[in-house]
Amino acid sequence: MRCGSRLIVLDAGTGIRELGLELERQGVSSMDLFISHFHMDHLQGFPFFTPSYNPQTHIDIHLAPRGHGRALSEPFHKLMEEPHFPVPFHHLGADIQFHELNGDCHLGEIHVRSQPMNHPGGSTAFRLEYRGRILVYLTDHEPFGGSKDESVRDFMHGADLLIREAQYTTAEYQQKRGWGHSTFEDAVADAVAAGVKRLALFHHDPEHTDLFLERILSDLQSRNRLSGLEILMAREGHCLELAPD
Ligand SMILES: [Zn+2]
Ligand SMILES: [Zn+2]
Repeated sequence: MRCGSRLIVLDAGTGIRELGLELERQGVSSMDLFISHFHMDHLQGFPFFTPSYNPQTHIDIHLAPRGHGRALSEPFHKLMEEPHFPVPFHHLGADIQFHELNGDCHLGEIHVRSQPMNHPGGSTAFRLEYRGRILVYLTDHEPFGGSKDESVRDFMHGADLLIREAQYTTAEYQQKRGWGHSTFEDAVADAVAAGVKRLALFHHDPEHTDLFLERILSDLQSRNRLSGLEILMAREGHCLELAPD
């Protein structure tokens, strides 16, 4: 996410590898990385993120409190320790600083809010507001199934863009209750109720092919045409602009 000269990266899955190469080409030397949680699919790209090896680069990593006096950096150290990876975290060249998220914070003109989600081991969603535009990144969340779902909708209220996980069909979900993920229907219903303008579905189930997702998308679009919600399936390399009115 680019806001003026500021660059914000949301999670460090495999997509961060290509991003790192592009940032190096562009000479970007400063960024903020927000981590939703430490499951492999959100962290495993980090050792392959080339800016973290560059002594000219500064990276601020933001994450929720870990509790019990555990260091914020611990999951990164573990990720890169022997025998999993040849370069230990403390050998990285970049200046990397960790910051604990406690509710609201400001990064220059960007206002960031965070909220815990319902996921095994926890997950944190982020709401970023910049010059009147709102982006919400909400991943790895299974609806609570009660009044707590209202707080999730409040959190995403009025978003210009909601990047939201939707891993399962309603039928698949019956076998995956408690796994901490949403259905396509959950994601769309929340977005419509919260007055979201654009919904980018991601965290696709590895068993779903492009063709399958395209069929799901056209079905969702045709059934929600009157809601005013724009729905799309996020894909690698996809760029969206939230231009001012
Ligand atoms: Zn997870
Ligand atoms: Zn995940």
